[in-house]
This record gives sequence, C-alpha cells and structure tokens, in this order.
Amino acid sequence: MNRILDFLNGLDDYELAFFIKYKKDSYMKVTRKIISDFQLEKNFSEKKIDRLISENPKSKLTDGKERCPRCYSDKIRKDKVEWTNTGGGIGIDDEIATWDGAGGRATYKNEVICNVCGFWLEDPNQEKPLPTSKKILYGIWDLILGVFRNI
Ligand SMILES: [Zn+2]
Repeated sequence: MNRILDFLNGLDDYELAFFIKYKKDSYMKVTRKIISDFQLEKNFSEKKIDRLISENPKSKLTDGKERCPRCYSDKIRKDKVEWTNTGGGIGIDDEIATWDGAGGRATYKNEVICNVCGFWLEDPNQEKPLPTSKKILYGIWDLILGVFRNI
C-alpha cells in the first residue's frame, strides 16, 4: 500500500480534518490527488472538516502527553538538527552555541513538527516558511536587538 494511504488510515477523524485543512496543499499534485480521493471516500466535506476542527475533543485532554498546540495530536516528529542560527540570537543558550561553534563543536537542537497539521513546535533554525508579516516582524526585532547590542 501507498505510504501516504498508510499514514491517512492511521489518523482519526479529527486528525484527518486538520491534516486536510492545513497540510494537504503542501503536497505535490500526485499526492494531493490521493488525499482528495481519500477525503471523498471518507465523505469529508469542507463543512464537516470545519465542524470536526471546532469540536476537537482532544483539546480537553489532560493526559500529560506532548501534543501539538493547534490540532492536539500526539503524532509529533522530533528531529535533531545541527543548530546553525547562532548569529543574532538572544539569551544564554545562544551564547553557548556560539562558543561551541567557535570551538569546532556543533550544537544540536530539536526541531519539532506536528506530523498531522504541520505546526512547528520548535524551530531552532527558523527554517519554516514564514508568512510575510512575520518576516517583517522578525526583521524589526533584529533591528531593535542590533541597536541594543551596539550601545
Ligand atoms: Zn498539529
């Protein structure tokens, strides 16, 4: 069986709703078609998806599992990534990373992404595609922090 179908079959209705709403469009045409067919087979209309998302009973769970803040799934993927974002950072962690970098040691951080809706829980290298407004905001912050550093 197809890998994407395996994945889709492993989702519950709520997860599937979030997946279709937030992640479907990030796939290539061929995969999107498989998802659309699956969606049709399951009878997931836009209306049903919106209802499932607003109902999501997982938002009330308190089982202590690490969950995605957007869809509340615990299908979260953690990747250790070499931390490259050492310049222009703030805080003690960043200082340490810079030091390690200078000594030839790489720093690793967790990149944490929700497998269901694609939400980035932790993004150490700021690799996730940002909407333009956020990019501008980050730009302003860099500017402000730059000013403070130069005092
Ligand atoms: Zn999620």
